[in-house]
Amino acid sequence: MCVLKTDILMNGALFLLTVNFLIAQLFCVFFLVISRRSRIPSAGRWFAAAFAVASLSAICEVVIRHADIDRLASFGAFSSVLGALLMIRIGLGRLYGVPANAMAMTVLFGASLVLNLMIYDLPRGTLSHSLGYQMPFAIAELICAIAVYRSGRRETADQILIALLLLTAANFVSKVYFSVIFSGGSTAQAYLGSTYALVSQSLSAVLVVSTGLTLLAVIVVEIMDDAKANSEIDPLSGLLNRRGFDVRVRQILARPMSAYPHSVIVCDLDHFKAVNDTYGHAAGDQVIQSFGRMLAGHAPPEAVCSRFGGEEFAIFLPSTGEATGYLFAQGLRNSFSSLAFAGLPDTVRLTASFGVCALAAPGDSITEAINGADAALYGAKNSGRNRVNRARRAAAANQGEWQAQA
Ligand code: GH3
Ligand code: MG
Ligand code: MG
Repeated sequence: MCVLKTDILMNGALFLLTVNFLIAQLFCVFFLVISRRSRIPSAGRWFAAAFAVASLSAICEVVIRHADIDRLASFGAFSSVLGALLMIRIGLGRLYGVPANAMAMTVLFGASLVLNLMIYDLPRGTLSHSLGYQMPFAIAELICAIAVYRSGRRETADQILIALLLLTAANFVSKVYFSVIFSGGSTAQAYLGSTYALVSQSLSAVLVVSTGLTLLAVIVVEIMDDAKANSEIDPLSGLLNRRGFDVRVRQILARPMSAYPHSVIVCDLDHFKAVNDTYGHAAGDQVIQSFGRMLAGHAPPEAVCSRFGGEEFAIFLPSTGEATGYLFAQGLRNSFSSLAFAGLPDTVRLTASFGVCALAAPGDSITEAINGADAALYGAKNSGRNRVNRARRAAAANQGEWQAQA
């Protein structure tokens, strides 16, 4: 009867080990596939390597039960799990920008391996054996959790990951207590045949799968955020595109404490077609790039700078009145008119025209403000270019536009 029960438990444990092995292999493949899309592919590759190495521990545990190389297999199981946890720490370092300290990791790994060899002959179920076996795992999990915490990122997936890493660390600590209480058996083989091993391995499997899925989720979120950011950026100028401009401005206007007035500036390079016709399209592209760099360099940090298309740009200046917006545009106009461009003769200088319009109060729409700034820009073009025009909107509109040239 007792033999039968042990057999069932042994088979149960073997089944779980097989499942663990296959799951770890699957995660390895998932991470390899997904890392190819990631901005930081090395993070996913470290996780893939970690799961590949972790899967070796299942093989070691099977070997423990069927072959006569208990000591080596037990050491292999321990070192593969610990090695995998430290690889996850390295991957987290890449993903979260908190590099692992190579020296500290090597010392922890080396010392743990020595400790593992030292405790092998201690009977299982004793406090010293359990402590020596489980604490390195708990410390490695804790180090991982601290790394994610230190990154300062607090998205839902990040918080779940921290919680799971802490929970897994706690699970390793609890194993010390439970293995003493339930004293699974005094040899590695007897341990694997115990109820305690079955429960402990099931719980560990659940935690490993949850952590693996959460790590995948963190990478997927990063890939999605990146794709979204790219879809809102104009590759030539490096500024936001029209969609990115709309999204940012709407976010600013939706803030409950959005402090009016805000200003919108639209800008169009003068006689740009002639630049393309005379110096070629590539030279024209250089000019667009230079204007983008200049704009990004001059704009205050809270400004929303974008290329609307072609040689037309728009800038949203939050909590900035029309007069200040006008001065800012004059500064841009001035700087641009003295800028030299790569790919164009040294003596060539270009100009740009600007229209400025303010959103005076929460009722004013951004579309109307852009239209107002466009109309002012049109006026600037018609009155000779290389100008900044201010648009008087709504109530003030019938007083007409007034313009200024520096
Ligand atoms: P204006 O002073 O009235 O604005 O004259 P313009 O020549 O600047 O304006 P127009 O609208 O006639 O020409 C704009 C030119 O910009 C035409 C188009 O070929 C060029 N263009 C649009 N997008 C790009 C681009 O991405 N790269 C380059 N090199 N040229 C572009
Ligand atoms: Mg133009
Ligand atoms: Mg144009």
